[in-house]
Amino acid sequence: MADRHNRDIDRPRAPLPEPLPVPTVDAHAHMEIVTDAAFDSKEVADVIAQAKSVNVDRIVQVGYSAEQSRWCVGAAEKWNSSVLAAVALHPNEAPVVEDLNADLKIIEELAQHPRVRAIGETGLDYFRTPPELRARQQESFKWHIDLAKRTNKALVIHDRDSHDDVLSILSEVGAPEKTVFHCFSGDVAMAKMCIERGYILSFAGTLTFKNAPELRDAVKLVPLDQLLVETDSPFLAPAPHRGAGNTPAQIANIVRAMATERNQDLAELATALSENAERVFGSFAP
Ligand SMILES: [Zn+2]
Repeated sequence: MADRHNRDIDRPRAPLPEPLPVPTVDAHAHMEIVTDAAFDSKEVADVIAQAKSVNVDRIVQVGYSAEQSRWCVGAAEKWNSSVLAAVALHPNEAPVVEDLNADLKIIEELAQHPRVRAIGETGLDYFRTPPELRARQQESFKWHIDLAKRTNKALVIHDRDSHDDVLSILSEVGAPEKTVFHCFSGDVAMAKMCIERGYILSFAGTLTFKNAPELRDAVKLVPLDQLLVETDSPFLAPAPHRGAGNTPAQIANIVRAMATERNQDLAELATALSENAERVFGSFAP
């Protein structure tokens, strides 16, 4: 999650893209921020319907706080053929919450739910978190890694300006079988290390940003079965709508950009991204 304090949230949403030729999955979205509404609301129904209208028919709704993770589980129960949930304390949340143990206990309970298929987003963020709070952030990351292993669920990592420590903590404690780098923000060297370790690299709208050529170089390298695509909506709307409000429907634009960079057939790529999401998060069916 970029930062829920940034202004993109209130901006008019990017227009609906051309539909994809085959169905695929948004592997990471924050629909509670997109809609600022209840999980069973018409606003959420509209966001899901708009995504479906362009062939994005499944969405992973990702947590960042104890309270918000409850919203994620509620949405996965309500929209039980198109939404799955991930729960966790965001790396920028864990160091500042009042009662960390109480919140972690809530995450532990929610993680048992059958439609919770991942622990995330967790990780490290040295862009936002000052040095004096990083030890607490690292402890929280290790706790969430352990929870993912104990529940045999995927791990969804937020890594901002902290590649080395994220990789060394994963080596130190052992990464879960399914480890996803959400909104991959590394270069070719980082991508190669993640690929070698069998991690999943999920690319967001940043792939389309002028100032991100290293992401376009990296996405070319990733084996087809280690790729996911995501919006992290409402943040990071893809070009040509950078700065607008983002929604899961924008996956269609990101997959097109990915297909162009990889010089790959659009339907083949969208199908592989869909299969990878079902392998990592399990079936979306009720
Ligand atoms: Zn996020």
